Amino acid sequence: MNQAVIAGVGNVYRAEVLFRQRINPRVPGSSLDGGQAAGLWNDLVAIMGDGVRDGRIITTTADHRSEGSGTAPPSEAHYVYKRAALPCRVCGTPVLMAELGARKLYWCPECQSG
Ligand SMILES: [Zn+2]
Repeated sequence: MNQAVIAGVGNVYRAEVLFRQRINPRVPGSSLDGGQAAGLWNDLVAIMGDGVRDGRIITTTADHRSEGSGTAPPSEAHYVYKRAALPCRVCGTPVLMAELGARKLYWCPECQSG
C-alpha cells in the first residue's frame, strides 16, 4: 500500500500479482527478499504489457480457465480480485476480502499463506 517504491499499479494488478507470486497482501513490502521483489516486478511488467496489448486486464493463465485456452471471459479474467467467497482457481479455498487503508484486499489464505 506504500507507493514510495511502486506507484500507479492499481488495485486489480496489485491483488492479482500478489496472488500469482503467492505473497500474502499483509506482508510488508520491506520484508520481501530480492527474489520476491524481482518476481513481483517482472510479473507486473509482463501482465501490464499484456493489458496494453489486450485492452483489458486478464491475469489468469489458460490452464486456470474453464475452456483451458483462448480468450478469458470476464468471469474468469482474475484469480482473486472481486472474487470474495468464491473458490480459489488453484486450490478451491474460498477467497478472502478485507479492507486496509480504504482499499480492499483479496487473497487466497491457502495459496498466499506466507
Ligand atoms: Zn488457493
